[in-house]
Amino acid sequence: MMSDRPNKDLLVVEGLKKYFPVRRGIFSRISGYVRAVDGISFHVRKGETFALVGESGSGKTTTGRLVLRLMEPTDGKIHFVGIDIFSLRQRELRKIRKRMQIIFQDPYSSLNPRMSVGSTVGEPLIIHRLVEKKKRYERIIQLLEMVGLEEGCINKYPHEFSGGQRQRIGIARALAVEPDLIVADEPVSALDVSVQAQIVNLLMELQERLGLTYLLIAHDLRLVRMISDTVAVMYLGKIVEQGSNAQIYHSPKHPYTLALLSSVPVPDPQRKKERVLLEGEIPTPINPPSGCRFRTRCPMAIAICVDQEPPLRNLGNGHLCACHLIS
Ligand code: SF4
Repeated sequence: MMSDRPNKDLLVVEGLKKYFPVRRGIFSRISGYVRAVDGISFHVRKGETFALVGESGSGKTTTGRLVLRLMEPTDGKIHFVGIDIFSLRQRELRKIRKRMQIIFQDPYSSLNPRMSVGSTVGEPLIIHRLVEKKKRYERIIQLLEMVGLEEGCINKYPHEFSGGQRQRIGIARALAVEPDLIVADEPVSALDVSVQAQIVNLLMELQERLGLTYLLIAHDLRLVRMISDTVAVMYLGKIVEQGSNAQIYHSPKHPYTLALLSSVPVPDPQRKKERVLLEGEIPTPINPPSGCRFRTRCPMAIAICVDQEPPLRNLGNGHLCACHLIS
């Protein structure tokens, strides 16, 4: 979490859209679009953890991929360290990519089983010519120690490690290039519950030590509460609520956020909370509901919600909410 580090914007996302064409028939004509991300804007300050949360199908993972420019947007802009990343040519993009790394959800499939730990962690050092050959071993050991692995691991292969240790290897590889931004895509959801806290603590320690900025993509609101400074709640390609950790967890406003939070167990058994049931599945983003996209599942929906899309309003102190009933 953020301490007293400077709070300059490292990443600025404006009006971002990503539509995937749906093709049908023998001529593969475009019959519609999956509106995976549909006009979202947010800023990530240097040194903070900005979390994108929502159910599967909310558009959070596509947003992460767009930030890394692993795909092209339909519309919108992303500035990273002041640079418009969609205007970059391949060579310039390679340079900027060094400053943005990703930690994947599944540490099993994200590591090459035929590469030793030393080669996996050392590869980015060679590709980006970061450390001269004679100092490479020393740097790999340093990276392994940073993530809590011993020197003895260097010649071992991924199958010799547990899921948590493999995730540590993935983190060491990401750190090798000294990135400014790490996109952490569900970084602990594939791990045993007992190991999840260790990896979360490691990510927080590394942030404190190295001044890292995280764009955290997650559906687990307990994890997000532990680690995030700012939280944006996504539903069907839109941000429906955004605020500081305290605003979202102590004073949530949007019916969708309330429903998500009500499904999270409360650690204090004395504290009871009203449970808001979220019925049904998230609708298809091919033809999202008119008006408010959440209206088909919202227990508070009124007539206006069918026709008019609620704007994302600032409720004060940067707390944003898109709901006709909240102003
Ligand atoms: Fe529910 Fe209407 Fe608010 Fe949407 S705008 S969240 S449907 S009350």
